[in-house]
Amino acid sequence: MKRALLSLALALPTFAQTIDQRIERELPSLLTTYKTLHAAPELSTQEAKSSALVAARLRELGYDVTERVGKYDDPAKTCYGVVAILKNGNGPVVLIRSDMDALPVTEQTGLPYASTTAGVMHACGHDIHMTTLLGTAKMLADLKSQWHGTAMLIGQPAEEVVAGARGMLNDNLYERFPRPTYAIALHDSADIPYGKIGYTPGYTMSASDSVNVTIRGQGGHGARPQNAKDPVVVASEFVVALQTIVSRERSPLDPVVVTVGSIHGGTKRNIIPDDVKLQLTVRTYKPEVRQRVLDSIARIAKGVAMAAGIPDELAPVVEQVTAEASEATYNDPALTQRLASALEKALGADNVLEIDPLMVSEDFGRFGLGGKIPTVMMHVGAVDPARLASGERVPGLHSSGFAPVPEPTLRTAIKSMTSMALELLK
Ligand SMILES: [Zn+2]
Ligand SMILES: [Zn+2]
Repeated sequence: MKRALLSLALALPTFAQTIDQRIERELPSLLTTYKTLHAAPELSTQEAKSSALVAARLRELGYDVTERVGKYDDPAKTCYGVVAILKNGNGPVVLIRSDMDALPVTEQTGLPYASTTAGVMHACGHDIHMTTLLGTAKMLADLKSQWHGTAMLIGQPAEEVVAGARGMLNDNLYERFPRPTYAIALHDSADIPYGKIGYTPGYTMSASDSVNVTIRGQGGHGARPQNAKDPVVVASEFVVALQTIVSRERSPLDPVVVTVGSIHGGTKRNIIPDDVKLQLTVRTYKPEVRQRVLDSIARIAKGVAMAAGIPDELAPVVEQVTAEASEATYNDPALTQRLASALEKALGADNVLEIDPLMVSEDFGRFGLGGKIPTVMMHVGAVDPARLASGERVPGLHSSGFAPVPEPTLRTAIKSMTSMALELLK
């Protein structure tokens, strides 16, 4: 009994050390890759160089790589999807996804490897994700004796405009390549200290809907309101009335966000304009809640216009921007628990946190085909623990100051992704 325990105690750290040592060995070159990617960000649907870099590195590691996988609705646009397959005997197929696109943000970090492309920045950390994919690819290629099955690595374009996953699936992804048994991904986080990883069983990121509303009125002289139907006043009432969707119409147990991010009307102080245009973003989890919130927005728009005496033929125009819509990201609960246990073994239980779901959105869930393939997305810490502990305001994702600490973030991300893949392919 004593001997068995002793040999187990020796065996575990040896295995753990080998992965740690392998990652340490790769980190310097991965850091260089990260900085190269960070300095050269590309906007959604324009990821030509990033995808070529990812594809070339994966090919060097022995993966069977196909580039430009995907089709957008607009046939003039190239979909820069990368699919890299490493077959290693019979077993499950594990899809591991990284997104590749950057954002229209002017970087203000002052880092020596800051973006050299004006007005474009990896402000969401997709450069961390690409480097993690490459690090994990190297680990899986080196550790082939420890797993069997098929690793299917995906470099996905156009996540920020939620078009890339759909584009790749529209190009017969699962017919041209193996259909995955599981799909996993991770996203960096500015709320979690580096060295730690967060998980949420069930809904983890919300559905996102974009709605455009045009409140139409009858314009006129600003000094003669009696001869006009003022859309500025109606739009103002509409914005306030929208607040009752969350506070009075929905269950407090169903998270909902309705934000009016843009409102524009009028040209001059003494002119009542003909219309006011509003842009809304809507976040929900459950499909039935999502539909009811969208219905409520249309109903309230119509109602406030009617109350103001705007004629039917000038009723508000409410349109959903379907190209920008994305479904909620749902972490299969059983698979999430299995992966969280594997991560606890790899990183230590203190470094694996159950976290709250987020109201931001992602298109990774699409790879699960509406629940047919279990999917899990984890969140990896990217911020100095001391800064988070001090209560200082740390710039978050999508901000011009977002600066993940690359070395410890990549170390944990690569170890986590490798451990999850090995768990599923063991
Ligand atoms: Zn983002
Ligand atoms: Zn992102």
